[in-house]
Order: sequence, then structure tokens, then C-alpha cells
Amino acid sequence: MTARLCVLGPSGRMGRAVIDAAAGRSDVRITAAVDRPDALGIGAAVGGVIATSDLAAGLDACEVYVDFTSPGATRATAAIAHARRKPAVIGTTGLSAEDDAALAALAEVAPIVVAANFSLGVNLLLGLVRTAARALGPEWDAEIVETHHRAKRDAPSGTALMIAHAIAAGHGVDYDTVKRHTRDGDVGARPRGEIGVQSVRGGDVIGDHTAYFFGPAERIEISHRASSRAIFAAGALRAAAWVVGKPPGRYDMLAVLGLA
Ligand code: NAD
Repeated sequence: MTARLCVLGPSGRMGRAVIDAAAGRSDVRITAAVDRPDALGIGAAVGGVIATSDLAAGLDACEVYVDFTSPGATRATAAIAHARRKPAVIGTTGLSAEDDAALAALAEVAPIVVAANFSLGVNLLLGLVRTAARALGPEWDAEIVETHHRAKRDAPSGTALMIAHAIAAGHGVDYDTVKRHTRDGDVGARPRGEIGVQSVRGGDVIGDHTAYFFGPAERIEISHRASSRAIFAAGALRAAAWVVGKPPGRYDMLAVLGLA
């Protein structure tokens, strides 16, 4: 079966990657592309369809929409999709509690897949770091370093936060009680059990993540490096084909991959 797809933000980095990836697949077909009214490419044909700023028409022309835009756009779109009970694949990161609430409302009436990272490698890595954290315990200092291109707006990356939560789960603690996102000045010795995340920004790096576990006289580093946005696009399209016809609810990429 071929799922009819609406791509949001076709002029963006991920929107373009999704359009390129869809061209080589038979399980999805792009039937609409919606961007901001002032976006480059509005009125041009992308993936064989005309990109418009008419969100309602775009949603009506598809069975599932794929959203890699901005938190505000993702929240506003979810509200419009709610009235249409429209399945969704959400890749936007840096979502606030209000943005998440809009997605939760949509998930009550439609199946949606939400993931800060759609790559197979990162989703496997989440399991690996959780296992490592459980085996090593908080006696091994856990830190994450993430590196992204200079245009990335949110920090830490959504992927780094997923890794941090996986480590906290392995330690059996609530991440918010042990997190450390910045160090500046005399912050004192590192408390036992703290989980640190550091963000590096520059150039055109698509996304590197390393989870460190520092033990006495030894350390483990578990890394993932993305060298093409095609891996995220392929994962998102796999999620789009998977989610159509599922019961309403919020699913993650592990469910799509059959690893949940
Ligand atoms: P980008 O700035 O290149 O593209 C964003 C696109 O959204 C632009 O085309 C913009 O015009 C469009 N847009 C903004 N408001 C819109 C609206 N109201 N309706 C329709 N389109 C709208 O950004 P990017 O690098 O493509 O990243 C987009 C998001 O995806 C970011 O949050 C990023 O962190 C995230 N991302 C997630 C993954 C993942 O695997 N989940 C991977 C890469 C990037």
C-alpha cells in the first residue's frame, strides 16, 4: 500500500531530504507540500506537487503528514490536524511543554510518531547506553557531547536529551534531578550521579553524539555520527508508511522498528 504524504517545510534542510528520499520509495507518495507563505519555493513543484502555504488543503490531500519545521509551526499544525484526526510523523526538536501538549491532544484522536532522531543507529544507541548505564551505575560519570551545524537553534539537541534520559533510566533516576547543561565559573567538583550534556556548534555538521562513561583509570565512549540527512528522511518515511491505520496514540521510532 502507498501512503499519501504531505511534507511540511519543503524548502528546509530536512524537508528537501524527505522529498529526495520519497522519490526512491513505493510505500509513500508525496501529494502535498506546505511551507510558510514567504518561503523560497512556494509555487514551485517539489516532488511532483506544487508547494503551497494552504495547510488545511495540504492536510486534506494526504493520509499522513511529515513535520520537520519549528516548534511553533509544529504546535499550530497539530491543532489543525486534530480537527482532521490526521496521522503524523513529527521530527521537530526543541519542543516546549505547550508544544508537547498539542501533540498529546492530536495523539488522542490519531496515531502519531514522534522522534528527536529517526536514524536506526541512534535508536539502537539508546538501548546500548541504557544497558551501559545500568551495568556501570552512577559511579561511572556519564557525560554527553553533541555537535551540530551552526544554523541549529535548539540546545542541547533532542537526540542528546534522549540519550541523557536513557542513561538516567539505566541509573533508575529522574533525569531532571541530575541534569547539568552548562558549567561556567566555580561550579565545584562534579557531584556523583550528575549527567552532563555539552553542545558544540559549527560548520555543516549534520549531527554527532558521544556518550562517555568515565570509570577509575578507564572510560567507554559510545558514538554516533550522521553523515547524511538521508538517514533521518528514510526513517521518517518508514514511520509514515507504518503509522497509517494504527490506533490513535503516540509512538516512538523503537515501535516503528519493532524494537519496543
Ligand atoms: P530548516 O530551518 O532548514 O527548515 C525548516 C522548514 O520549516 C523551512 O522550510 C521553513 O520555511 C519551514 N516552516 C517554518 N514554519 C512553517 C510553517 N508554519 N508551515 C510549514 N513550514 C514551515 O530546519 P531543518 O534543519 O530542516 O530542521 C527542522 C527541524 O527538524 C529542527 O527542529 C531540527 O532539529 C529537526 N531535525 C530532526 C531530526 C530527526 O531525526 N528527528 C533530524 C534533523 C533535524
